Amino acid sequence: MAINFDDYECQFCGKTSTNFVFAAFVCDDPECIEKARIERGGPGGHMKRKAEGGPIIPVDLEDEI
Ligand SMILES: [Zn+2]
Repeated sequence: MAINFDDYECQFCGKTSTNFVFAAFVCDDPECIEKARIERGGPGGHMKRKAEGGPIIPVDLEDEI
């Protein structure tokens, strides 16, 4: 999967994204990354998915379409 970050804005501050973390495009700002983490379900959110047998990567985005 190729992601061109220039095509996406940080979901929290609107700057060009540089990261895709916790199923959210974010910039380099740790605050934005933290917001993504919290929005994702808090600490261990994605690891809980893994523990349940689900993938870590956000395939649920596809499931909702
Ligand atoms: Zn940001």
